[in-house]
Amino acid sequence: MSDCIFCKIVAGEIPCRKLYEDEDVLVFHDIHPVAPVHFMLIPKAHVASLAECDQSHRDVLGKILLLAPKLAWEQGLTDGFRTVINTGRGGGQEVFHLHVHVIGGGGPRPL
Ligand code: 5GP
Ligand code: ZN
Repeated sequence: MSDCIFCKIVAGEIPCRKLYEDEDVLVFHDIHPVAPVHFMLIPKAHVASLAECDQSHRDVLGKILLLAPKLAWEQGLTDGFRTVINTGRGGGQEVFHLHVHVIGGGGPRPL
């Protein structure tokens, strides 16, 4: 997906503030944070949204969801955090490469 901004981040063509990386997943801070802590977990392999996922994405989806609380804790969100997955235009998705937002540190109900 040569025109996908998150694929370009995965490829290192656009810089990001990286939090975590392995062979399947990249995690980086959102460029426009809506709370003191706001990062996103993405699969390295392009998939447009949760609605495009199938059984082949099961492992990476599980990996991302299990990583979220671990990284949230490491970022100081020891009292909890919010997870958001915007899906499709009707769901407010702006970047069509699946991403899970982790947001917190802005009080009991950040966003
Ligand atoms: P969506 O609305 O699709 O769920 O969220 C897309 C998010 O990507 C937004 O919160 C936006 O700030 C973030 N974003 C867009 N472009 C970039 C970028 O080039 N770098 C980073 N780090 N975040 C981006
Ligand atoms: Zn992509």
